[in-house]
Amino acid sequence: MKKIVIIGNNVSGTFTAQNIRFLNEEVEIDVYTQEKYPYYTRINLPELISETVNLDDLIVFKEDWYEKKHINLNLNTQIKKINPKIKTLEIEGKDNPISYDKLVLALGSMPNIPPIKNAVKLKDDKKGVFTLRNIDDALEIKSFISNENVKKAIIIGGGLLGLELANQIKKAGLDTTVVEFFPRLLPRQLDLECGDMLKKEIESKGIKIVLDAATEEILGNGSVKGIRLKGGEVLKTDIVIIQAGIRPTIKIAQDANLKTNKGIIVNEYLETSENDIFAVGDCIEYNNQIWGIIPACMEQSKIVAASVLGLKKVEYHGTTPKNTLKIIGLELTSIGIIDPSKEELSGGWEILKKADKKDCCYQKLVLKDNKLKGAILFGDTKAISYVYKKMEQDVDKNELRELLELYIYLCQNCGKEYDEALMEVLFKDLQNDFKCPGCNGPKEGFKKKE
Ligand SMILES: Cc1cc2nc3c(=O)[nH]c(=O)nc-3n(C[C@H](O)[C@H](O)[C@H](O)COP(=O)(O)OP(=O)(O)OC[C@H]3O[C@@H](n4cnc5c(N)ncnc54)[C@H](O)[C@@H]3O)c2cc1C
Repeated sequence: MKKIVIIGNNVSGTFTAQNIRFLNEEVEIDVYTQEKYPYYTRINLPELISETVNLDDLIVFKEDWYEKKHINLNLNTQIKKINPKIKTLEIEGKDNPISYDKLVLALGSMPNIPPIKNAVKLKDDKKGVFTLRNIDDALEIKSFISNENVKKAIIIGGGLLGLELANQIKKAGLDTTVVEFFPRLLPRQLDLECGDMLKKEIESKGIKIVLDAATEEILGNGSVKGIRLKGGEVLKTDIVIIQAGIRPTIKIAQDANLKTNKGIIVNEYLETSENDIFAVGDCIEYNNQIWGIIPACMEQSKIVAASVLGLKKVEYHGTTPKNTLKIIGLELTSIGIIDPSKEELSGGWEILKKADKKDCCYQKLVLKDNKLKGAILFGDTKAISYVYKKMEQDVDKNELRELLELYIYLCQNCGKEYDEALMEVLFKDLQNDFKCPGCNGPKEGFKKKE
């Protein structure tokens, strides 16, 4: 094998190239991207809008990094067609196709635009509707809101990215509202109780939240004037930013007859349905799942690098979802399974939970057959390193109690226990007129069990 071509140069493409080079010093590695920047992180794009960071801070590897690793980086180059039978690629605007021995698709994903009347038209016409995926999107939003007539912003989508973006738009001085389709924030990362706590905290930062709200239309002819919700309510705004999930980029794979569904279908070695073509990152679907997070891209890029070189040692079996909300003053991490359904709870599932509503702190650990399966840590994330270390492993429940500082209180009169791990309310937060369910004695009659 002489030449490996990678399409896409964000985290998946770049780390695949790096991992291939680590394993093989000889092979030619050519990377193509339609973007004009070398590898940059998308994590801080919202901060580029509020000018908390500048463009240079986002670039992770400058062009000399590629030169040192003998990786040929081709910026501003869009691949328009794959010809798997003759192993060539066609480049937009160029006559001569390029050849490959092995091809890695690291095509990533694009923002999902829900079926909202006028959304695509007003976005394409650049009349005040935006999505945020790349540096150019961020610069366009920044330039649009710098106009003094732009005072109100609506973010459609109350997921992690929507909330982080809302925080930066608010910081940039706009009256900011988040509109979420589901009846709670972060429906995939939080349960109802913690979603409520998070909502209050975000509102306390001056950001408005509208839940259970389906946007039906974006209003305005020449420019955005507002949105109309199902039910008829109109919310006025000068800019709408849609942050409602992702769609894997699959078009050129589909056109080349690779097997696709939502994403490009791969097996455990990240091989596609076509010989010598592999796929990695946001664009893949493995086992009916797509990920859309950096830890998955990193894990997959190690596996795909080995597979491309014919070293099929490690198989991919999915990545545990791991998400952290990055809003200063709000610590929130959600990992793995956080809200098993009621039926599942009967089959060996257990929950240890500490909800301290007064201090706005929520910690929930989910176990199955004594193995740690997931956690929500909000307000107090000191248990985070323990949780990462112990995921999918057997845990000692007493150790977990200590970690979360959960206690058992004993009624000194009748011996009845109040176990904070099993109750909705911490002992200290019980009403003063709380009565022992065993003997009807007073709250003061309880003592912490040593
Ligand atoms: C604002 C924002 C914040 C985020 N924050 C986090 C976070 O905190 N934590 C986290 O885990 N994840 C986060 N993510 C998600 C994370 O950025 C993605 O999971 C990651 O970027 C996916 O990497 P990728 O390389 O697979 O795809 P992408 O990053 O999408 O890169 C694919 C690249 O391929 C190029 N490309 C596609 N088709 C072609 C073609 N035909 N020819 C040439 N080039 C092509 C694209 O232009 C793109 O540059 C965030 C995303 C956004 C947008």
